[in-house]
Amino acid sequence: MVTIAVTAEGAEEPRVAVSPETVKKLVGLGCKVKVEAGAGARSRFSDDALKTQGAEIAATAAEALRDADVLLKVRRPSPDEVKALKPGALVIAMLDPYGDTAGLEALAATGGSLFSMEFMPRITRAQSMDVLSSQANLAGYKAVVDAAAMFGSAMPMMMTAAGTVPAAKAFIMGAGVAGLQAIATARRLGAQVTATDVRPAAKEQVASLGAKFVAVEDEEFRQAQTAAGYAKPMSAEYQAKQAELVANHIKNQDIVITTALIPGRPAPRLITRAMVESMKPGAVIVDLAGERGGNCEASEPGRTVEVGGVTIYAPLNLAGEIPVNASSLYAKNLLAFLATLVDKDSQALKVDWDDEIVKGTLVAKDGKIVHPSLTQGAAT
Ligand code: NAD
Repeated sequence: MVTIAVTAEGAEEPRVAVSPETVKKLVGLGCKVKVEAGAGARSRFSDDALKTQGAEIAATAAEALRDADVLLKVRRPSPDEVKALKPGALVIAMLDPYGDTAGLEALAATGGSLFSMEFMPRITRAQSMDVLSSQANLAGYKAVVDAAAMFGSAMPMMMTAAGTVPAAKAFIMGAGVAGLQAIATARRLGAQVTATDVRPAAKEQVASLGAKFVAVEDEEFRQAQTAAGYAKPMSAEYQAKQAELVANHIKNQDIVITTALIPGRPAPRLITRAMVESMKPGAVIVDLAGERGGNCEASEPGRTVEVGGVTIYAPLNLAGEIPVNASSLYAKNLLAFLATLVDKDSQALKVDWDDEIVKGTLVAKDGKIVHPSLTQGAAT
């Protein structure tokens, strides 16, 4: 029998790595699930609800971890947590693999097999395990809802006897998973939506959601997508052309949501302070790239600031602000991955170390960092 431990996250992380639904399925796979008391509270998963589905509630983290074969977390566990597991146990979490290298090395030194869900290959078989998508989708939604709440005016056009309220203009920068959900949400709220990206594939997706695509569509744009579907860093020439386009467009916008990222690199700077100053007082920018330094020069990651009457909000964990949904989807991503690591017949761990999704997500094993994008520089 595989014993799975789930411990509570730190104060800054409301999500949890298991839900009543996934406990039931893990138990169905023949696993024992030990959850630290209160770990699901901020996601409204009570100990009783988890217990009803077959979880064992441990009074302390130490008790949950003892003799466990697998640790499921949202964020990086501490080296002490991993040392409390069975030797060589599996740790599956969002390890923030490009952040705090010394901390990651200390975790690797425990000898645990560490899997980082952010590295899940974006292949069809692994779609149900794609945490970046499940969490970014919710963040894109929440960014627009928060922006609407901070914006002092209405989003939809309203024609009333007392006069007409104009539709808000929303501009979404970066049309990946978060950006596309932001477009859909802003459209549902009645805004007039434009969006930009550097990948040509985004153009059709933006149009299919009823938004207008605005971008520098030159030869470099046509080559901007990597084989993995991500954006490449753009040349200084492209960035200059893009900045001119953005400068002209942004001054008329009421709400701007930025989501532009390039794996393993700082977020591209798309909005300068001068551009913010050109915007109308009352406008709102929500910068979802805050964790990687931000897409907006005036952003202060984790804070809300005001520049010339424009509010700039750079949240660090927006998915975590809708923890019920974020935890449910994240727990299902983990379940789908774990199901590939447990042998149905023997009900024991059986890891195929040559499997593409195992190799893709394995960050450290036997005390060493092993992932190629960490041992050979940033991913391309
Ligand atoms: P991401 O979070 O890495 O980046 C967000 C967006 O920012 C991307 O669309 C990117 O092109 C854009 N961007 C980067 N630099 C930019 C710049 N300078 N200016 C403007 N935009 C810029 O991306 P993501 O949301 O993880 O999605 C990346 C791609 O992967 C998308 O094509 C998405 O549809 C695809 N995807 C595939 C699968 C799958 O096949 N299983 C799953 C999820 C996503």
